[in-house]
Amino acid sequence: MNKDTLVQLDGVFREMQSAEDWKNALDIMFTSMRGLFVFDNVAIYTLDDRAKGLDVVYARALGRGKTAEADASWGEGIASDVIQNEHMIIRGPLQDASPNNRLSQIHMLGIPLYVASKLHGALLFVRFGGPEYLDLHIHVASLQAVWASSLLERKQLQEARAELDSVQRQMRLQDDFVSTISHELRTPLGFIKGYSTSLLRQDTIWDEATQREFLTIIDEEADRLAKLIEDMLESARLQSKTIQFKFSPVRLDALVRDVVARTKTHHHTLDIELNMDVLPPVLADGVRFSQVLENLIGNAIKYAPESRIVIQGAYIDNKVLISVNDEGEGIPAEYIPFLFERFYRVPGERTVTGTGLGLYICKQIVMAHHGNIWVESVLDRGTTFFIELPANPTL
Ligand code: ATP
Ligand code: MG
Repeated sequence: MNKDTLVQLDGVFREMQSAEDWKNALDIMFTSMRGLFVFDNVAIYTLDDRAKGLDVVYARALGRGKTAEADASWGEGIASDVIQNEHMIIRGPLQDASPNNRLSQIHMLGIPLYVASKLHGALLFVRFGGPEYLDLHIHVASLQAVWASSLLERKQLQEARAELDSVQRQMRLQDDFVSTISHELRTPLGFIKGYSTSLLRQDTIWDEATQREFLTIIDEEADRLAKLIEDMLESARLQSKTIQFKFSPVRLDALVRDVVARTKTHHHTLDIELNMDVLPPVLADGVRFSQVLENLIGNAIKYAPESRIVIQGAYIDNKVLISVNDEGEGIPAEYIPFLFERFYRVPGERTVTGTGLGLYICKQIVMAHHGNIWVESVLDRGTTFFIELPANPTL
């Protein structure tokens, strides 16, 4: 091997190392080593343990006779032979291939790929119309196979790490949840117990106004407990997918108005603006969908107290779009990706109670409606939640 080749390889490997994505790294390797080894198409097949078949995880058409990149069926037969025999295979054109049709003169080279010393798949090259693979080409291809294997290993490790991160985050959330839930259960219970014990005291006589005040607190705290338990059951049912949705044609403009009217009976001073286009019906479970709106409005009331709330409804591109906007403190961007996870609450000083179930419940319900829910938030400006549902004007 001469010095120039070594210098070139050094450059290629460095560039691959700094590529962010394993597919980019492979692109760099195959294109920059074409001076040493020319081919038309390349593909990587990996064993799919579950389906007992082969997956095409990478395919590129670089040379003459380009075929669609995704269409890598040309190599499937030889890939399974390579994998079955755990051996490199070189295959020339079939006997009956027409000498005038270059595309029928198929020269294939297949090399097994190993990840963590286990057979993982095959790397396939094809040349249309030759020339045959020479010793040097085979060595370059083998080197590329070794490098491709290590990139596949890197990909597996990255995926495993992402999964581990997500499991760890879920475990942390569960831990936080246990402490949140015990606090959330204890607080209303404490009030109920304290005020009822006071009312029952033999040595004190409470005037009627005070009795009423204590009973009102007991009543409200009992409601809070009931809601908490209902949310926990609801989220467990949604997670295990045991909820039966009752879908029927629903006019969301009317539904939103009802929810707002009901909310106002509990929050007399609430400044809430409705901005509703006439909306076509959607197929929805009215009761569950009201829950979504109640949760979003409830959050706006809790996290953006005193703010005006604007609810808009529009019909765009065959979809109904509902948004709930507040002018509160907003949510820092780094927390946004986790908001819809079960038990997730934005960390920080807490004066507002909650369990982190509301938005999880919203998302599950919206997804059961084949819709989307997302949030946009600007610090110190406010937060807007959006819900999009497929509309059906023929309902
Ligand atoms: P729960 O709804 O179960 O009583 P929660 O309100 O804490 O509890 P979610 O409704 O899931 O839970 O909301 C998750 C988190 O998102 C909240 O803890 C809050 O930090 C943040 N959040 C939600 N809505 C808003 C909003 N409109 N403005 C600012 N922060 C919000
Ligand atoms: Mg909430």
